[in-house]
Amino acid sequence: MESLPIAYQPVSDSAEQLQAIYDSVHDAILVMDCELGLLMDVNRRATEMFGYSKSELMGMSLGSLSLGLAPYTQEDALGWIKKAQEGEPFTLDWLARNQSGRLFWVEMNLLKAKLGSAERILITARDISDRKRSESEHSARLKRAESQNAVSLALAGAGPDYEAALDLIVRYLAVQVGDLCVMQLLDEEGRLVTTAISQSYLDGDKCLPGPADLPPRALEDSALSPLKTSREALSIYDLSGVEPLAKVPEAYHSYFRNYQIHSLLAIPMRFQEKLVGIIAMAKGGASRPYSFEDQSMLQSLADRTALTITNGKLYRQNLLQAEELRQINAELEKRVAERTSQLEEANEQLRLMASTDALTGLANRRHFDTVLEAELRRACRTGKEISLLLSDVDFFKRYNDCYGHIAGDICLQTVGQVMRSTFRRASELPARYGGEEFAIILPGVSAELALKAANKLRAAMEAKEIPHERSEASPHVTLSIGIASMVPSPETRSSDLIAMADSALYTSKQTGRNRATTYQDC
Ligand code: GH3
Ligand code: MG
Ligand code: MG
Repeated sequence: MESLPIAYQPVSDSAEQLQAIYDSVHDAILVMDCELGLLMDVNRRATEMFGYSKSELMGMSLGSLSLGLAPYTQEDALGWIKKAQEGEPFTLDWLARNQSGRLFWVEMNLLKAKLGSAERILITARDISDRKRSESEHSARLKRAESQNAVSLALAGAGPDYEAALDLIVRYLAVQVGDLCVMQLLDEEGRLVTTAISQSYLDGDKCLPGPADLPPRALEDSALSPLKTSREALSIYDLSGVEPLAKVPEAYHSYFRNYQIHSLLAIPMRFQEKLVGIIAMAKGGASRPYSFEDQSMLQSLADRTALTITNGKLYRQNLLQAEELRQINAELEKRVAERTSQLEEANEQLRLMASTDALTGLANRRHFDTVLEAELRRACRTGKEISLLLSDVDFFKRYNDCYGHIAGDICLQTVGQVMRSTFRRASELPARYGGEEFAIILPGVSAELALKAANKLRAAMEAKEIPHERSEASPHVTLSIGIASMVPSPETRSSDLIAMADSALYTSKQTGRNRATTYQDC
């Protein structure tokens, strides 16, 4: 075998050399006994890392080199030692504590090793505080981004009910910028109305009054009055020089005193130059004053919030206007409906007037003609009989001459009443045919029944006993009636039926009046 150059020859097995390597590696090496988990040996790096001398570290437990709280107690450490003893080597992150009490993160590798005749646990520990720090910064950044997203979503999604979004924003600002956050909106009278307060200040011993308990105040009277015209943030870093409480609402005084409020930061919320409201923040105790970053973050949020509020208010106005319009519309519709029903009523009256005889209230000639035409067609279709009665007051000319025209009119009204009470069925139509002549259409009625009906009418008229001293037929007003009955054919005209009835009436007149005659009998 070829010999290697001296520099690459394997190091000799001397204990001195091994100790040198042991002490010069960058990681701390800790040797533990398996039962009690106490330190049996450490390298130099371990003494540097934990700040104890080697002799101090001997016999110390792993638990005492940490936080001492779960999962960093001696009991937890013994568990890991046991685990390493039973199986494969493993690695874990461990929160260590040095001699001065500073906590730092180490990555520990636990490994079972046979040192001499005894079994030990060999731990290598590497300081990973930097990595841990950047990890926690990363997670904080992530959390911040998440809540920023939540705020952005709330701002973008807020409709007419934007108050919930405002609550979210004050909570977010209280955490991200600190400490107290109050959102005040300008009402129509230019007063500041507290709309949201970061909730943690409403509870517990801080116990600030809620928005509902803070009366609106004029912007001029408040410490925030410069924001009426200014677009810039109002920032007071040191309240010791000013009289901070002079313009702060009474309700906040004890809070300001108890929490040693030292800094105020207030940002105007503007939409197109118009002041919508103010976001005000206050800090106290040992916290640092507001930074420029705090200001710019608040500023960008204030502008977006102003937009959301303005949108929300417009949205509400639109809803109100839509409701008003709906009511106006409903009112209009109601009026149109009323007018329509009035018109319908008027039309109905006109229709009645057009078909009614003014003196007797019976159907007039026009209506009679229409109905007779329709009933004839119907009777023709159904093949049923139809009868027509034509009646004329006997010696009426003389009645007029004797009792006067007005009495004649009254007499004709009585004839109308008698006709109406004699022919009540919906199918029967008594009508004033003209002058003192009356006609009755009786659909579906035979000549025989029509004659009965005619005599009933005649008798009812006579029974009225309207004196008629100049009548040759009776001492009272009487009627002569002619009856026509037929099953019409398509060729039948209404004038045919009328002519037949008229002819029968003529016979009644000729044969003594105060009687009814059918066409067949005349
Ligand atoms: P007859 O028994 O033959 O029928 O004799 P008459 O006198 O009744 O004769 P006619 O039927 O020819 O007379 C009709 C009279 O009825 C003529 C007219 O003065 C009268 N008359 C017609 N219309 C009205 C009316 O609306 N009011 C009044 N008061 N009289 C009317
Ligand atoms: Mg006549
Ligand atoms: Mg007559």
